[in-house]
Amino acid sequence: MFAILGIYMSDLGYLSQKIDCVISKFLCEKFEKRSRMMPAGKYVSLCFDDFPQSAALNAAPMIEQRGWRATWYVAGGFMGKTEPEYGAMFEAADLEKLRLNGHDFGCHTFDHIDCRDASAEEIAAQGRLSTDFLNQHGIRDMRSFAFPFGSADLASKKILSNAGPALRGVKPGSNRVDVDLNMLKACGLQENQGGTRRAMAELDALKHQDGWVIIFTHDVRKNPSSWGVAPDEYADLLTAVDASGAEVVTVGEMIDRLETPAQLMHRAVA
Ligand SMILES: [Zn+2]
Repeated sequence: MFAILGIYMSDLGYLSQKIDCVISKFLCEKFEKRSRMMPAGKYVSLCFDDFPQSAALNAAPMIEQRGWRATWYVAGGFMGKTEPEYGAMFEAADLEKLRLNGHDFGCHTFDHIDCRDASAEEIAAQGRLSTDFLNQHGIRDMRSFAFPFGSADLASKKILSNAGPALRGVKPGSNRVDVDLNMLKACGLQENQGGTRRAMAELDALKHQDGWVIIFTHDVRKNPSSWGVAPDEYADLLTAVDASGAEVVTVGEMIDRLETPAQLMHRAVA
């Protein structure tokens, strides 16, 4: 009897946690929005999170050969390390090469923390560490932040938004017309998103509809992790980006082109 009651109580506990999670996700998506209006046109941004060295070695040259640049969401604490999933992580020389080649950089917290579990003080401290780290590597103009694990709640969204940068999540889809600068949509190339399939579908949709497709991944190598992509698949994706007719811009560049609703209204009546 007590055993049954125990199982029942633990089920209830799990259910209540699940409900909390769904409510928190709903609130996070619906509130604390920062509205920006997109200019007409089709745009694609290419991003790398964390980042594994293979992305710099294998994907960056493919992007640069096409005359494009990417946005790199750097978690400084990974520098020089080897991660079980990703293999070798970036080195200082990788950062320098990307910087000299004109790439864009964003923050991703220094220690890749889950912002939903962190206090306001922890988030602020991670922001300082991350900014100092990038500054030490000659990188200054960070205009965006990507939530590690895509994990955010209303409180962390508010704290980070007040700090100024655009915030990128991991919810797949295209950013259209009225963009939420506090939770930019982005298509991951990971296994649980069907590899490149979702990003390819969004690129295809760009042929018929204006929008801004942000695509992110992690390692780019043969036998990639579940969160990465193989070089030949990434090459096919870049071919599809080209075929979409979209302009490839970094996240930082695109943010500069967005307007607040008030600016747009002012321009309309001027
Ligand atoms: Zn990450």
